[in-house]
Amino acid sequence: MPMPCANCGAPTQLVSGPYLNSSLGLYCGYCRRSEPLPPDAAERVRYLQWRLMQLGQARENDEAPLRTVARLKRAWVPVLVVFFASTVLQISQTLSTVQAVQKAAPQAVHDVAFPMAIGLSMFAGYLFGYVGMLRGYRRAVKPLLRARPPMAAGLAIRCRSCGGDLPNVNAPEVVCRYCGAPNQLDKELTTRTGELLQAEISAYQARAAKVYSHDAFRAPTKAFYRWGAAGAVVALVVCVAAIQLVVAALGGGGDVHSPPRSAGP
Ligand SMILES: [Zn+2]
Ligand SMILES: [Zn+2]
Repeated sequence: MPMPCANCGAPTQLVSGPYLNSSLGLYCGYCRRSEPLPPDAAERVRYLQWRLMQLGQARENDEAPLRTVARLKRAWVPVLVVFFASTVLQISQTLSTVQAVQKAAPQAVHDVAFPMAIGLSMFAGYLFGYVGMLRGYRRAVKPLLRARPPMAAGLAIRCRSCGGDLPNVNAPEVVCRYCGAPNQLDKELTTRTGELLQAEISAYQARAAKVYSHDAFRAPTKAFYRWGAAGAVVALVVCVAAIQLVVAALGGGGDVHSPPRSAGP
């Protein structure tokens, strides 16, 4: 609600400060006049602020699993570099050991190469898990972080959490000045307005009927473990099969190549 300054008519701001007993007042940035809010108005403001604070806390609880996603995203490059370096090191060590033992004991190649298969499958598990997490985030979480579309053409885009009007900014994300919720902005807010408004109504109905679930925020972390495990298993199977083939080839090849070599000198 607009609250023009009683002195100059400019819009005033709600501020907290030492105003009589109530700590809320109106401040005009143009003529620098400030006045305390009447007690009933201040009480109303405090009540509404309390409601917004509760809303914010509920939202943060619901979105707590996203902190794990944020941690995984921050660690992505360093962990990848460490994994990559250790995998390259392990492969080179394994290859030199394999070269050393392959003539003497082709069957031992399997034992020598197996730790490498474990290392490679962990690396693959991490890669797959990360891809799965990004996919889960895009599918399940991103739509929930999007701001609410404008109620009608020309009106403001609204906060996904409190419904307050959001400032018109040209950025991928804007933080609500009322409840502090980060809102993602994208083209779909203008291209799919009708569809999004319909989805919003369905979400309210689902919440009212208590069939609304916030499990969507856990989807990326779950996908990380699910995809990671599947990727690791597949990689392990492929690596072990490859090692078996190499061992078989060495075993067969050893018989073919060894005699001429030993017969040569
Ligand atoms: Zn003024
Ligand atoms: Zn808000």
